This record gives sequence, C-alpha cells and structure tokens, in this order.
Amino acid sequence: MNKWPSASGRKMHSAASGRLVFALSCVVAALIATALWLTGLAETIDERLRIEREALQTRPASGQVHLAVVDAKSIVALKNWPWQRQTHAALVDRLREAGAATIAFDIDFSTPSTSEGDAAFAAALSRAGNGVILPTFRQQSRDGVDFENLPIPTLRQHSILASVNVTPDPDGIMRTFTYGTVTAGVVRPAMPAMLAGAANTIGGSFPINTSIAPETLAVHSISDILAGKIGRETLAGKTVLIGATAIELGDRYALPRHGVQPGVVIQALATETLLQGLVFPNYGAAVPLMLSFFTLGVVALYPRRGVILAIFGLMPIAGLPLALEWQAIATVDVAVALGGYIAGAITLLGVRAAAEYGKARLVDAATGLPNEVALLRVLKTANCGILVVMRIRNFDEIVHAMSQDQRKILLDQVCSRVALAAGNVNQFSLGYGRIAWLSHDDNIDRLTERLEGLATLFASRIATGSQKVIVSPAFGIARGTDRANPVHADLAASRAAASGCRWVIYSAELASVTGRTQQLLADLDDAMTAGDISLVYQPKLTISTGRIEGVEALVRWNHPVIGPIPPDHFIPILEDAGRMGDLTLYIADQCIGLIGQWHKTGLETGIAVNISAPLFSDQEFVAALFARAVAMGSLSSFLTLEITESAVVVNDVPTIAALSMFRGAGVRIAIDDYGTGQSTLSYLKKFRADEIKIDKSFVRNLADEASDRILVRSTIAMAHEMGFKVVAEGVEDEACYAVLREFGCDIAQGWHIGRGLPIEDIEPKLRQNRVGLVTEAMGSNVVLDAPLHPPVSNMRNAA
Ligand code: C2E
Ligand code: CA
Ligand code: CA
Repeated sequence: MNKWPSASGRKMHSAASGRLVFALSCVVAALIATALWLTGLAETIDERLRIEREALQTRPASGQVHLAVVDAKSIVALKNWPWQRQTHAALVDRLREAGAATIAFDIDFSTPSTSEGDAAFAAALSRAGNGVILPTFRQQSRDGVDFENLPIPTLRQHSILASVNVTPDPDGIMRTFTYGTVTAGVVRPAMPAMLAGAANTIGGSFPINTSIAPETLAVHSISDILAGKIGRETLAGKTVLIGATAIELGDRYALPRHGVQPGVVIQALATETLLQGLVFPNYGAAVPLMLSFFTLGVVALYPRRGVILAIFGLMPIAGLPLALEWQAIATVDVAVALGGYIAGAITLLGVRAAAEYGKARLVDAATGLPNEVALLRVLKTANCGILVVMRIRNFDEIVHAMSQDQRKILLDQVCSRVALAAGNVNQFSLGYGRIAWLSHDDNIDRLTERLEGLATLFASRIATGSQKVIVSPAFGIARGTDRANPVHADLAASRAAASGCRWVIYSAELASVTGRTQQLLADLDDAMTAGDISLVYQPKLTISTGRIEGVEALVRWNHPVIGPIPPDHFIPILEDAGRMGDLTLYIADQCIGLIGQWHKTGLETGIAVNISAPLFSDQEFVAALFARAVAMGSLSSFLTLEITESAVVVNDVPTIAALSMFRGAGVRIAIDDYGTGQSTLSYLKKFRADEIKIDKSFVRNLADEASDRILVRSTIAMAHEMGFKVVAEGVEDEACYAVLREFGCDIAQGWHIGRGLPIEDIEPKLRQNRVGLVTEAMGSNVVLDAPLHPPVSNMRNAA
C-alpha cells in the first residue's frame, strides 16, 4: 500500500528537494559560465553588450580635437589629388598661425614627391618646431613580413611619428584600438594615444567608446583653413588632425552603432575616448558571477514568485556595468555571469515546474487527495483488497449553488466520515464527489456491513456554512481482477445511485446493461418522433358511481430492435441521464390535448400523469409544466399529477412549493404507492394532496391477507378523516374489489377493472361507460365488462 506523507513530512521533503534543485542549477550555471569563458564566446558577448550599453547614452565630443579634412570641397578648390607638398606646408603654416597646439597628419607621406615640394613641406615642419606628427602605416611585404611604412627621411627628420594602424575585427567592424604598435622590434605609439598623451601605455588596446557622437566633432574643410576662414578664435590651443573624408579617397571603416566612417574620424573618436577618460578599468567577471549565484539563491528561496524574480534577477547583473560606466568608474564583464545565471535559472524553474506538474498530476485540486492517476498506480501493485467507489447522489444539485469554499467544506466532511467508518485507508478523489478507497479486508460481507455503517453516518446533515445538506451515498464495489480498473467500481456506484440501492457489486453483466443503457439514451429522441413511445390508459373506477371517471397514463416504449421495454427499466435510466423532463412533457402534452379533445365531445374523464420525483425540484421543468396547467384554465381539475410517496419523505422545500403551486392552479395531486415509504398521512397533509393511492402490494391479496385488510381499512378511514380521496391500485379480482367497496374506498384501479389500453381502444369504452353501460349495481360483471380487458394480442402493450 502506498503511503502519502503527512503535511509536515511533505514540507521537509520539499525543502530537501528544493536544496537539491538549487544545487543542480548552480552546477549548470557554473558549467555554462565556464563553457562561455573557455570558448571565448563570453568576450564577444561582452563586446556586444558594451556597445548596447553605449547605445543607451550619447556624449558630445570634447571640442579639443578638430578635424581638418580633405573633403570634396577642398579637392575641387585645390584641383587634383594628391596635392603638391607645398599645399601641406601652407596648411601647417596656417594652423600654426591660428594657434593650433598640436598638428597631426593621417596622410601617407611614405613616397617622395617633387624635391621642391618635399623641401617646402620639410621647411614648414621645421618652422613648426619639428613637433608636427606624421603617420606610419603597417604593411605586409611580398614575403608576408610586416613592416612599418614611414614618411620619407626628409620629412621624418622634422616630425614626430605615430602609427595610424587600425585593426578591424574579423567581421570587418572596428571596435578596439591599440595604444601602440611594435613592428620589427620597433615600438611606436598610436596616433590617438599620442594625441591624448597616453602614449606610455603601449601594448594593450582599448575600446572605442561609441557613445561619443561623431557629428559633434569639429570638422573644417582644408580649403577654408587655407583661405584663412578658420582663425585663432576657433583653433587656438586645439589639437588638429588632418585627414581625408572625401569618399573617393577610400580609407573607411565600419564602427558599431555609427556605421561606416572615414579613418580620420575613427582616429578622432579613439582620441576622444582617451581624452574623456572613457577607457574604464575592467574588474573582470568575478563580481558579476558572485552576484549571479546570489540572485539564483534568492530565486530559489521564493518559489512562489519564481519567474518574476528570475527575470528581475537579470537586472542587477546586467545593470552593474551600466551603472559603473555611467559614473565613469570602471567596467565589468557580465557575459559569463549572465550566461550562467540564465542557464541556472532555467534549470531551477524548469525542474521545479516539472516537479509541480508531476505532483499536480497525482492530486485532485478540489480535495487535495490523491486522484485517479494515483489510484491507478496503487492498483497496479495491489494484489488484494476490494475497491470501493462512493458516489454522492444528486451531487450536482447539492453543490451547484455552493461556493468553492462550501464545496471544500462539504468534501472534507464527507472524507472525514469515510475515514471514520472505513478505517485507516487511503482515500482517493475521482472528482464530482466520488471518493475511492481500497479496503484491506477481502470479506465482502464485512465490507458491506461497514458501508451500511458509513451510510448511517451520513444520516446527519452536513453543515457547509449557513447551509445544511443531506448527503446520500451510494457505493460501487469491485473485487478480484475487476478491481484493476476503477471505472468498474465507479460504474457499479452509479448503478447503485440510479437504482436507489445502497451498494452494487460490479459484474460483466452490469457493464453490458450499461452499454445498452447508453444505446437507449441515444435512441430516445428517435423513439419520440417515430412514435415508439406511446401511452396506454388504465381505467380508474369510482366505486360509488360505478363509472370510469379517470384513467392513469402509463408510458410504453416499443423499441424497434429490443421490443417492448418495461417502464421500470428505462425510466430510472432517463432520470439518471436527466432526460425524464423531456419525456414527461411529451406525455403531459398528449394527455392535456386529450382532456381538451374529450371535453369538447362531452367526455369528462380525468387523466393522471406520473411525475418522477426529482422533476419537482427541476425549476425549468416545473415552469414548463405549470405554464401548460395554467393554459388549461378550468380544465386543469381533470389533470392529476402522481408523485410517489417515497419521494416526499425528505423535507424538501422546492417539491412542496411546486406541488402547492400546481394545486393552486387547480391540478390534482395524488400520492402514489402509499405504504412503501415511511410517511404518515398527517405528514402528507403538508403536501396538500387530493388523493392517496394505496400501493398494489397491500391491495392485491386483500381477500386472503388479514394483516393487509387491517392496514387498508384503517388507512381508508384515516385518509377520509383527513380529507383525502383513496385509490386502491392492483385490484386483480372480484373478491378484492368487494372488500374495498365494503371498506368505503373511493376508487379502484387494477387488472380486474381494466388493463392499460391504447387510446383507440380505451376511448370507445369510456364513451360507452359514460352513456350508462356500467350499471348502478356494482356487480361482478359491471366493470368487468369484457371489452375493457385487452385482447391477448394486445398484451404486449398493456400493463
Ligand atoms: P405505477 O405508477 O404504480 O403504475 C402502476 C403500475 O401497476 C403500472 O405498471 C400498471 O400497469 C401496474 N398495474 C396496474 N394494475 C395492476 C394490477 O392489477 N396488478 C398488478 N400487479 N399491476 C398492475 P407499469 O405500467 O409497468 O408502470 C410501472 C411504473 O412505471 C409505474 O408504477 C410508474 O411508477 C412508472 N411509470 C409508468 N408510466 C410512467 C410515466 O408516464 N411517467 C413516470 N414518471 N413514471 C411512469
Ligand atoms: Ca402511478
Ligand atoms: Ca402505484
């Protein structure tokens, strides 16, 4: 037998498994973090993340770096390119006059021009105090060796050198810049490092900060500078970087965020990055990594808010470098931490969700009890015991007006009563108020005894808040191999519930009957339209007048395949399936129509219609039938509704209300099968009935059974005292009829008076009867008038 742990046990268990899941997620996080780091993927991701962060902020250029550019305008103004070196000389002179603090060229001077030109430029450089910066370019020789392309010696002598090499990433995008280059053992600072005075950091590289907007750089056309249009007020004390931006001069590279830019702009942005101090010390991945494990721990600690916490947990990790960079303090690498955290969180939430799902799969949400799936598991291994399924009769009706909480209280109460009577068993909830358990005892007698005991526990009402309800249980039992499938026991329980038995034991036969039941339900609609469902009318003789003053309508179903089905067989099935209302209205319509029709032709015969007890608490049905009764007007007194006595024993308010409503509309009420229930006549007064029908079991043997005679006689006397008319049903012979007449019974019904006949057979008899065929003298042959008995060939349709 399985054991479902107690609540505190479950808590301890879940805490332990919670720690296990956390440990697992930490391991996954560590593995993923290591993998990211080892593969170098982390570096790439960090690079991208940095650029995304820079995209969140935009800074202007410092204004210290000015660009003097060979643009389209200066090419046009100064004619063909490359310019004579005299032009560069003039430019240096102009910039010097304008007070430029530093002058740097990003233009190739590695090949000689005219000797006058070179001399003129060299002279200008020397006039500038040999402090102008000229570029060196790395190139590769034919044999694959790198070498640095320097300005020609004449110019080199009068200048400072800085390398303008750029190294885009393999995807062609420029992200980082070196502080300097070492080519063939010669160390050379890079131009930006030189301009920004950071030339002492040769060796490493730094990222170009893309938050600096290139359009905020001060750019001047060289033609304007040469024309003297840009003066001291603009250039004094500034660093001037000279290069080409004209498209036809090439030298362009792609930057993240800013797209393709001329090389000189990239040199300027790299310079700005250094000048503005935007190269932050990188504290590495350790702190974010620690933060990620801490956050993972927080997520693990609060399982209820798992997903939200996990998402918010990304923020401190991803936001840490953003905050540090914003304040220009430092930066950290977060890719490893983020990757590890995401993998860990997914593991944590995933494993937890899977566990929750697994748990939910075995538990019934309404009761918290293990469910049918759990029961099936237990049944797979159980090799003894008897499976019991308990159903609550009319569960839907009981709970339909209840709140969720009230239902919970009800089910809890039901379960605790089961526990009380069934002993220490594990209960399973199959939903819809069905509780199952495996009884350890294999003795069926002891089991059914226990079930009887359990049923008596349910005699006291269950309080669900302000409401008190009666719960009537029905049990299905399955043993041996039948036990393996809980549906068997459940089917037996539903049979028990429908048939009013306390318990039913499952058998293969039961299953086949149920199969037929389903077929019957499916056939019902066809039966009504095809006329397979019909009515026979059984006469009710008024003893004092000797006349048939009423008939009882009895339903017949002549199934095209099965043949005639007794009403006692199919009515409980229809009741169980909630289809009885349709059928009853169909019957009532025919009877009401007949009453009207008969009345027009002078035949004043009443018709009694049987109403299944549960229908009186079906508001929709009651309303529909009531509307029909009201529409009958004064003819409603010819309609009698029969309700079986056993149905009115419980004090149910809707039925009492419905009955008195019908009576108010002039309809007669008969209490059927009187004597089979536990009610007393005085109790029945409450139901404001007109008529008591003594059950045939007391009437049939009236002539021979003294005890029946005593009972019937006293019932008739008392009923008369209380104002009821008395009908005796099951009058099968003359002797019985004579006794009833002697006792003063009002009406007799039974085979002796006549069997139920179809309309075409009963109607002529009723008309004959009315015109005086039945004599005043109530002799044996009076009502026994042969034609009232159905011919033998008609027996199939008769009662
Ligand atoms: P019931 O309402 O007590 O109907 C009387 C039953 O006794 C009928 O059986 C009738 O044929 C039978 N009967 C009549 N006279 C005698 C007699 O002298 N001796 C014996 N032994 N039996 C006699 P039936 O038609 O098989 O109906 C059985 C039950 O089915 C009815 O019992 C009633 O509860 C139910 N029923 C029949 N028609 C309807 C209906 O239209 N609606 C509902 N809700 N129930 C119906
Ligand atoms: Ca009846
Ligand atoms: Ca009856």
